Amino acid sequence: MNIPSCQHAIDLLLDYVSGELSGEHRAELELHLQQCACCHTYLETYRLTISMTRQLPQEAPLPPEFEARLLEMVRALQEEWER
Ligand SMILES: [Zn+2]
Repeated sequence: MNIPSCQHAIDLLLDYVSGELSGEHRAELELHLQQCACCHTYLETYRLTISMTRQLPQEAPLPPEFEARLLEMVRALQEEWER
């Protein structure tokens, strides 16, 4: 079993938090999270964002600027790791 890179872990994280990640990939990601502080932090941040989003009224779509800010944050994190 390969431990995924941070980039790969981020891709998996999105499915992981929505419960769509299964089997081998899930195990890989959990292994990575145990060993990688930055991805662990990212997971916490992502979960927090989701719980904030869920507090919004159901009929309100995710504001585009909110989604843009989230993407921006992800990119900033990724750039930091690539240094
Ligand atoms: Zn990582």
